[in-house]
Amino acid sequence: MHDSTADALIVGAGPYGLSTAAHLKHYGLDVRVIGTPMEFWDGSMPRGMFLKSEPFASSLGAPFAGAAFTDRHPGWRNGRPIPLATFVEYGRWFAENLVPDCEDAQVELVDRHRSRGDFTVTLSTGEVARARAVIMAIGVRSFAHTPVVLSGLPPHLCTHSVEHRDLDRFEGREVAVIGAGQSALETAVLLADAGAHPLVLARTERLAWNSVPVPSPSLVNRALRGPHSGLGRGYRTWLWAEHPWATRLLPDGTRRHLVRTTMGPAGAWWLRDRLDERVQVLTGRVVTGARESDGGAVVRTAGRTGGRGEHHADHVIAATGFVPDLGRIDILAPELRGLVQAAHRSPVLGPSFDSTVPGLYFTGLASAASFGPVMRFVHGADFTARRIAAHVAARAAGLAAQPAVTPPARPAEETASEAAKEAAPQG
Ligand SMILES: Cc1cc2nc3c(=O)[nH]c(=O)nc-3n(C[C@H](O)[C@H](O)[C@H](O)COP(=O)(O)OP(=O)(O)OC[C@H]3O[C@@H](n4cnc5c(N)ncnc54)[C@H](O)[C@@H]3O)c2cc1C
Repeated sequence: MHDSTADALIVGAGPYGLSTAAHLKHYGLDVRVIGTPMEFWDGSMPRGMFLKSEPFASSLGAPFAGAAFTDRHPGWRNGRPIPLATFVEYGRWFAENLVPDCEDAQVELVDRHRSRGDFTVTLSTGEVARARAVIMAIGVRSFAHTPVVLSGLPPHLCTHSVEHRDLDRFEGREVAVIGAGQSALETAVLLADAGAHPLVLARTERLAWNSVPVPSPSLVNRALRGPHSGLGRGYRTWLWAEHPWATRLLPDGTRRHLVRTTMGPAGAWWLRDRLDERVQVLTGRVVTGARESDGGAVVRTAGRTGGRGEHHADHVIAATGFVPDLGRIDILAPELRGLVQAAHRSPVLGPSFDSTVPGLYFTGLASAASFGPVMRFVHGADFTARRIAAHVAARAAGLAAQPAVTPPARPAEETASEAAKEAAPQG
């Protein structure tokens, strides 16, 4: 039980929460992290899953060298997919070493104290904690998106992919999987592995697959195709992946288009061979409705070039992704939530992930509308953590009007001047 006001309280101990905590602690700030390390990855991702991101793009952000995924697993090369359990273990190792005092509790309500201007945070333990800054690192779960066309099905017949850690319960059953991204395709393969009969209904005309990473392409190849970055190869991709501050400076419409279209639905290269005849795939099918029938589900589709279809299944899994929506963050007190300026349902964020409520920050998917597609992936965590930590430290020191604070020690490959540039607001 803490009876003082923390400098910062972080909601959630996933990759973004842990990275931000590590950076804040490096400034010597009093930080509380509420949440079980890697809870979402361990509890809500399907057993047997592999990461789509390459090892070098699967690191949490630390203020010093030695805590990257490849430090924990030296020699783990690109092109070797990371099993879910290995990544969860890495995240927990990071927590044990850099953020050992995460509190195994849930945040139930975040509110702002009217006169003091700091935050009151109600925990599942019954404690009402106080903090001068709150960092919402709640991840994607509350943004799970199920298309309205599936609303004709009751919950026992239709679930979102995020609800399935264990697919064994579908053994021997027909399962329609809606979607064409990695989550849909991997869910279908894992269903087949579990002895189920999956049918993938994809809107796209054909499935897209990421290409096999080429270890060290020639200089000419690199010059033509662009550098390799956390989101893939190409000059523009490199910019979005490695310099998300630039994305934030784009005009609103351009940025929205970028967030919507970059990294569209595609399967990982290593999944391709596993999607065999056990999985039926129908492409070019737009789901138009669904209903219950004889204890099962019937999904109605229309072909992109005409033709209607009805598909019977024992169960439907919507692998239809996540859509950020401030209105769905119900742990924010309504009045406080109303003070957060939003555009297209995402919070409008300043250069340090700061919302229009001083001291309230948003990370991960909730920040993608401002900082671009990299915020949907672990790879965006280090940039986020550095920015937030520098800003919170500046506020704590009463320097909020001078955000170009001296940043913490940087990993060897980054220079002090780059660090100073990053800590300063862009645009
Ligand atoms: C099936 C699947 C596969 C993916 N594969 C990859 C991949 O290969 N590579 C990649 O980079 N990204 C992948 N992603 C995206 C991935 O979810 C994000 O990159 C990553 O989880 C972002 O980290 P985060 O900290 O924002 O969110 P999370 O990892 O979701 O962490 C947020 C944490 O906050 C906790 N929390 C939420 N609310 C509260 C509360 N009220 N109180 C306390 N704690 C709370 C949650 O339990 C959770 O542990 C995948 C996503 C899915 C669904």
